[in-house]
Amino acid sequence: MNQRHTEALAIVGSGPAAWTAAIYAARANLNPVVFEGEPVGTDIPGGQLMSTTDIENFPGFPEAVTGPQLMERLRNQALRFGTRVESELIKSVDFGTHPFRLTPNYSPEIGALAVIVATGAKAKWLGLPNELRLAQGGGVSACAVCDGALPAYRNKVLGVVGGGDTAMEEALYLTKFASEVLVIHRRHEFRASKVMAGRVLSHPKIRVLWNKQVVEVLGYDAISGVRLEDTASGEISGLDLGGLFVAIGHEPNTGFLSGQLDLTPHGYIKVAPWRTATSVPGVFAAGDVIDDYYRQAITSAGTGCMAALDAERWLAHHGLGESPVLETAEGPVPASTSGAEP
Ligand code: FAD
Ligand code: NAP
Repeated sequence: MNQRHTEALAIVGSGPAAWTAAIYAARANLNPVVFEGEPVGTDIPGGQLMSTTDIENFPGFPEAVTGPQLMERLRNQALRFGTRVESELIKSVDFGTHPFRLTPNYSPEIGALAVIVATGAKAKWLGLPNELRLAQGGGVSACAVCDGALPAYRNKVLGVVGGGDTAMEEALYLTKFASEVLVIHRRHEFRASKVMAGRVLSHPKIRVLWNKQVVEVLGYDAISGVRLEDTASGEISGLDLGGLFVAIGHEPNTGFLSGQLDLTPHGYIKVAPWRTATSVPGVFAAGDVIDDYYRQAITSAGTGCMAALDAERWLAHHGLGESPVLETAEGPVPASTSGAEP
């Protein structure tokens, strides 16, 4: 008899979407297992919020909460209802067979009757030495909606790097708080849509620095400015800034899927409108990995809830179980009735 361990529901990821999905699934007796990832470079279990300080816009925390505290609370809430956690990355999947196959980095492959992918996305950074250090509360950020309203950024001259729609949106949003917004773009024309670019170009508080590339972020405890290179002449100049927003795009964490789910043209997992169903029945997706637009902790948590409800209904509709099952030669058998160790 094949003793491969098959789960009812495997959740891949560890941001607000994954933990919210786990809370709902565990309370629905699906006995989920979460693969929360492992530290790789700047990625750590807990997701993007592990690298930020105060979160002031997650409902329920009127005094703010730090990113790591919020993630610990979400994780603990999922554990409280019996969620099991594996601190490993899923390196590959096979969604062409059912039960689905998931291969972690170190432990043996597992099967799963349903899967929720909540692996999030990464903001792209410039890759400058001081940049990520000052992104820990030192005045460098990749999210204006998240950080722009913090006192540290108010009434300051703020820089926004990028020439796409994200940069336009960030710049326009920051005009609410900044004394002036400087958009720093490496070319002489924007990539952004005409309507967004037009709003930026006509805004009295925004100035554009064309053909400029940030080559150094200056400051020790907090940013004091940047060094710029003129991409046409090569000339180097300095610029004093009270904050820098890097808005050069995001990259969804979908590499491990190896093309097994349909993706949008920007590489995000394609889901049905207002649903979390992917192109493979029984595989659901939630959080920033499906969202190139809102990218917020609360919207990720919201879609995590939706994914758990969708997975629960899908499993029930197909008469598939509540607790872990073992795959046998005869097909999936609930662990509780098989007499074998899961
Ligand atoms: P993520 O938070 O992106 O986490 C997914 C995690 O899954 C990854 O980090 C990794 O640990 C894990 N993972 C990835 N691949 C695998 C794999 N193959 N196997 C197993 N695990 C894997 N939003 C707000 O609402 N308010 C804020 O104040 C705010 N501040 C922010 C500050 C910063 C600096 C950043 C970068 C973002 C901020 N955001 C904020 C946005 C918010 O962090 C994201 O919208 C949210 O974290 C997305 O959640 P998620 O669940 O989709 O996944
Ligand atoms: P994007 O369109 O890929 O634009 C990224 C911008 O960053 C480009 O201007 C690029 O410069 C610049 N850039 C990239 N790497 C850089 C680097 N290392 N140094 C300096 N500059 C760098 O990404 P996006 O703005 O995030 O948009 C992604 C998609 O989402 C787009 O389709 C966009 O329309 C959509 N979106 C829409 C809205 C909206 O409609 N409201 C809002 C946000 C996003 P170059 O131009 O020189 O390549």
